[in-house]
Amino acid sequence: MNFSDSEIVASIMTEKNYKPVKEAAQADIIFINTCSIRDNAEQKVLNRLKQLQSLRKQNPNLVLGVLGCMAERLKTFLLEEQQTGFRVDMVVGPDAYRDLPQLLLDVESGQKAINVILSAEETYADITPVRYASNGVSAFISIMRGCENFCTYCVVPYTRGKERSRNPQSILKEARELSERGFKEITLLGQNVNSYNFTEESAVKTWNFPVLVEAVAAINPLLRVRFATSHPKDMSDELLYVIARNDNVCNAIHLPVQSGSNSVLKKMNRKYTREDYLERIAAIRRMIPGAAITTDVIAGFCGETEEDHKKTLNLMEQVGFDFAFMFKYSERPGTPAAKKFDDDVPEPVKSQRLQEIIELQNRLSLKSNREDVEKIFEVLVEGKSRKSDKKVSGRNSQNKMVVFPDKGYQPGDYVNVKIMDCTSATLKGEAAD
Ligand code: SAH
Ligand code: SF4
Repeated sequence: MNFSDSEIVASIMTEKNYKPVKEAAQADIIFINTCSIRDNAEQKVLNRLKQLQSLRKQNPNLVLGVLGCMAERLKTFLLEEQQTGFRVDMVVGPDAYRDLPQLLLDVESGQKAINVILSAEETYADITPVRYASNGVSAFISIMRGCENFCTYCVVPYTRGKERSRNPQSILKEARELSERGFKEITLLGQNVNSYNFTEESAVKTWNFPVLVEAVAAINPLLRVRFATSHPKDMSDELLYVIARNDNVCNAIHLPVQSGSNSVLKKMNRKYTREDYLERIAAIRRMIPGAAITTDVIAGFCGETEEDHKKTLNLMEQVGFDFAFMFKYSERPGTPAAKKFDDDVPEPVKSQRLQEIIELQNRLSLKSNREDVEKIFEVLVEGKSRKSDKKVSGRNSQNKMVVFPDKGYQPGDYVNVKIMDCTSATLKGEAAD
């Protein structure tokens, strides 16, 4: 989401004739787009802001701005040099990017500038993002902003505000233009894409997420469509049918479970039970055989017992996830969990549980990849493999990375690849035709 937001910021800036540079040292203005999801994400940004101060020596007019979720969460605190130990000139929340050029004028006139007003309507629908760090093959399209699910551990509803869906016509226009420019893969982005909902002004048509996905898929059969993230409580059969009947809607579903214990899920306000989740998994397996299912897991949430943790491990094994993002619970100030519950799982226990979750997932990922050996997949080439320029890499529909010998392929080519070998992270193959 931040990657996508940075492309929107780049577009607003280039409209005003600012130009991107490759290195921070070459810049007159530096914007850091930030994440507040866990404390370590924030610590990285604070360290970076400290380091960047040295550039002020060479460039006394350097403007340093903090954008995004940390700007929203910490507001004027970031401008208080005495307290932070570094100087920031601008603080701009995720709904105020259109104001950036004006805020820069304020900074040029010697003031510090801040806009952290959240909006109930802003979707940046009319802005065509500048794909400045793109591989020319895959692109993100933001289809909604904000979140109102209020999972008790999560800061997003406070930093990104109300949930709002972007006008579908602007999404389709952006997707068509990307396809015409040769892009082959689009990922539709939102905090909870399944709750996408837009009623056109004429009120003749209400768009939900399955309708939107099918419309994007219809643009070009060679354009792959992915999406993230789906919330299990809103994962409808209608969406599963759309994935099943459209070859170019990828067979990969990211469905964050967070925990395998009902009491923890309840405390997290996730609004589904372990049983509900497993029922959705069964539906996916039934309707889309061969789909990859990936997840997010939090270790050591408030009050989590050893038994709760075992239930998470057990659920992971039962589902056999292909991949997972795994985190230690990090208390976020102002969230319902921070207000109501004790962050009472001791740090070494959190670490131990996370370690067990990671080890299990590595085993599950390896098992899943081994089952792919001998199979043939259509792979979308993204570019040279990171390890060898005699090989190329790309992804299959299941979103698994596949590496295979280069026979002069170009980024954006589709190649049928037979899988010969694997690690827990990568499939290795050879072109099958
Ligand atoms: N909207 C998406 C993703 C939200 S953030 C969703 O609901 O799935 C991505 C992941 O970060 C979450 O799925 C969760 O696993 C993790 N996360 C969020 N808040 C966290 C916190 N306070 N501590 C640790 N992990 C957290
Ligand atoms: Fe956070 Fe929950 Fe919203 Fe995801 S669905 S962004 S975890 S509140």
